[in-house]
Amino acid sequence: AKHLGRNTYSFFRPQMDIEAKRAISLELDLRHAIDHQELELVFQPLVDLKSGEIKGIEALCRWEHPIEGAISPEEFIPKAEDTGLIYSLERWVIHEACAQLRILHAAGFPNVQVFINISKRHFEGDALLETLDSALSETQLNAQLVSLEVTEGLMLRNADAVLATMQKVKQRGVRLAIDDFGTGFSSLSYLRQMPVDIVKIDRSFIQDLPSDTENMVITSTVIAMAEKLGLMPLAEGIELPEQQSFLQDNRCYMGQGYLYSHPLPMPELVRLLCRNNGQ
Ligand code: C2E
Ligand code: CA
Ligand code: CA
Ligand code: CA
Repeated sequence: AKHLGRNTYSFFRPQMDIEAKRAISLELDLRHAIDHQELELVFQPLVDLKSGEIKGIEALCRWEHPIEGAISPEEFIPKAEDTGLIYSLERWVIHEACAQLRILHAAGFPNVQVFINISKRHFEGDALLETLDSALSETQLNAQLVSLEVTEGLMLRNADAVLATMQKVKQRGVRLAIDDFGTGFSSLSYLRQMPVDIVKIDRSFIQDLPSDTENMVITSTVIAMAEKLGLMPLAEGIELPEQQSFLQDNRCYMGQGYLYSHPLPMPELVRLLCRNNGQ
């Protein structure tokens, strides 16, 4: 047994060291990236399904690591949440997204809105409101053109603090969207308690439309419920024309996905808008 134990030890230990070291160096590198503006934003169009017009854009964060290359936000956002770096990261994201929206407005598209992803952790304190106020006053943006997206699990802890922040965000005229709707554990009634304006239906329900009966039922139910609660439904991850038709037939008129455009850097997005929105 001793022999086996030793073997196990020598087999696992170096691997653990490598992973632990990578985790630590990734944290340091991310801190460096935030402080030295090595992050970038790309923007995915949010499309009016009836007219084809681009009404908004979702800001998505990108990190090109100097050695490891592109690291997915699915990896570095959770890391930023665990280490507390999320506050400074999203402070940068909010300022940058607002500044980029100004550029888009100045290029001749003054009505386009921006949607910004915010970690639920960020809703637990006042830091978000301070950042939002400074970004709005710095850029002189109309607050109604800014929406914050937050995933639906956000009420599971610190519900009172989160609700209070949401209310204060709304007082500023900024809108709120529930992201990845349908993937969390919240009930529909819980949606009613929150001061949200937009429900983003998760891509996992859209991707098998219109062949998967269950997802058809779920999607059409969520759209109908959103409508009854006075919320705007928006479908994520639309890749096929049949998916768009299904959504329109079920009265969902806003969406995003590769069918329209991948997330783009701002200069390419401006070119797309010029072609698309008729300028
Ligand atoms: P999300 O907010 O649900 O963003 C949508 C993700 O789906 C994006 O991945 C986008 O590129 C991808 N996508 C869009 N259309 C399609 C489609 O038609 N098909 C498929 N298969 N995928 C599509 P991305 O950019 O890798 O971002 C992943 C996640 O990282 C985001 O999911 C969001 O939760 C998080 N994230 C990104 N930037 C930020 C940020 O600044 N702050 C926070 N808190 N989270 C962020
Ligand atoms: Ca999102
Ligand atoms: Ca989403
Ligand atoms: Ca997601």
